[in-house]
Amino acid sequence: MLESSEYDSKKKKMEQGIQMFLEAMDLDLKDQHLKGTPERVARAWLEEFGAGNFVSEEDIKKILSIDFAEKCDEMIVLKDISFTSHCIHHMVEFTGIAKVGYVPDKRVVGLSKLARIVDVYAKRLQIQERLTRQVAEAIKKHVKPLGVGVVIQAQHNCVACRGAFKPGSKMITSCLLGKMREDKAMRQEFLSF
Ligand SMILES: [Zn+2]
Repeated sequence: MLESSEYDSKKKKMEQGIQMFLEAMDLDLKDQHLKGTPERVARAWLEEFGAGNFVSEEDIKKILSIDFAEKCDEMIVLKDISFTSHCIHHMVEFTGIAKVGYVPDKRVVGLSKLARIVDVYAKRLQIQERLTRQVAEAIKKHVKPLGVGVVIQAQHNCVACRGAFKPGSKMITSCLLGKMREDKAMRQEFLSF
């Protein structure tokens, strides 16, 4: 998390940048709706769209700290985890759902943690492939399961509203690690959920 002095200096820098951007668009910054825009945009990026950027490795470790020591060795899956992220190439939103599953090795985390960890990585400038891998790697590193899998399906506004102009198209990415990748039956089970 950001210290308040760090927050203030970052916010100021962002506001200046947004102001310059709006000026280059030949917009009247005295317009009642635009007056507060640099401040609003800066706040949104610091506190929401880009908040995951300021979550440290230490915080991630805390989020994924073990809640239960269980004998469970059955696959645990949380699906339809909705998220919003922004593409690193255009800074335009992409939204989708994630499916996260793992096969515990005597260590189990609360289900909400799986959803939170998706958000930590989604609230950054991202490419979908990297987001998918980062979620899987974080669970591998901190939960130490026998296997982990992440599948993400998302719609990219930079494909819908510009460039290819293909609204409705969906991108699907997956990252399977450990047994989830090596064991065919396990892989099948996870992908079929
Ligand atoms: Zn893009």
